[in-house]
Amino acid sequence: MPEMSVPQFRSFVDMSDYENIRQVFERNYIAEGPCGKEFKDRLLEVTGAKYGVLASNGTLAIYLALKALGIGPGDEIIVQNVSFIASANAIEMVGATPVFIDIPAFDDLTVDLDKINLTENTRGIMIAHLFGSACSNVEEVVTYCEKHGLFLIEDAAQALFISNGEKHCGTFGDVGTFSFYADKTITTAEGGFVCTDNEETHERMTFLRNQGRKSSGTFVHPEIGYNFRMTDMQSALGLSQLAKIETIKKGKTWIVDTYRKYLGDKVSYLKLHPDFNYIPFRVIAFVDDADKTMAYMSEHGIEPRTMFVPFHMQPCFKHFDFDPSAFPNSDEAFQRGICLPTWIGLSEEQISYTCEKLLETL
Ligand SMILES: *Cc1c(COP(=O)(O)O)cnc(C)c1O
Repeated sequence: MPEMSVPQFRSFVDMSDYENIRQVFERNYIAEGPCGKEFKDRLLEVTGAKYGVLASNGTLAIYLALKALGIGPGDEIIVQNVSFIASANAIEMVGATPVFIDIPAFDDLTVDLDKINLTENTRGIMIAHLFGSACSNVEEVVTYCEKHGLFLIEDAAQALFISNGEKHCGTFGDVGTFSFYADKTITTAEGGFVCTDNEETHERMTFLRNQGRKSSGTFVHPEIGYNFRMTDMQSALGLSQLAKIETIKKGKTWIVDTYRKYLGDKVSYLKLHPDFNYIPFRVIAFVDDADKTMAYMSEHGIEPRTMFVPFHMQPCFKHFDFDPSAFPNSDEAFQRGICLPTWIGLSEEQISYTCEKLLETL
């Protein structure tokens, strides 16, 4: 038996969340309603965006954003080769083609602008602000998109409350998308949000998410749409989570500081954008051989996780035409990166034990 057990993740939910959900039952308005409106308004305050819509989850949020921009068959969207699968899948789901571009370095998770080959079909770039910080080159990506007349889509699923003090992640481009999955900065179990400053894009999203009509209660549908609504039970959870954001920020900052205290400079960390705050989604440590280190940690009751498997290595994307040797930095990130357990409630003993076992493999 290992000395200690260190799970990869646990959601930060408690009785205050439960109480908020209970009130939804009492009100007996369980589908999208008043809590949804309030949750959306609060998210607009947090992001500073002009418009926003809720979605059933972060994947559909990206899908909805792409649809609203009119992206579809024949279009190509450039996407960073290291992200969660949903970034690329949403592009596939609207019938467009994801074009994978390597990251600039193993510790720098964004699109390497120098490696882009634009074609006449390129319509936009999708960046993903990963692990609780902003893409290190977000300003350059904005300039690049403006120069070439491309849409900028920001997958900010892991970047709620990440800003440079003036602008929030997800508001640099045409659309920004968020997820409230169980392990995101705040959770609604499942849920999503898209923000935009463009009135027309917002209007398109409003129709698409609610059966091709502007509001419920009418059976006249000017357009074909979908159902991407969120329940008030979920929005109630979102609101009580928002009320705890300072505890979440403090807790996660303490976790990354504590990992750094024990690991020091014996591992490498993610490159962070210096102008943005940092709320680690997972603390990432880069070692020489992640497989070997993770196997040893697992034997000792710790649950490490690999980095996202780069898109060029995904079995589901084998059908795309790309040169598998064009992604050396993604290869290195995957070979060296480890997601360390990162959740509110993790004790100093668990962190120091995790670090001790990790360091024993170096
Ligand atoms: C979680 C996540 C998504 C998908 O969100 P879901 O709510 O799980 O559908 C998309 N992109 C990134 C970067 C994510 O972390």
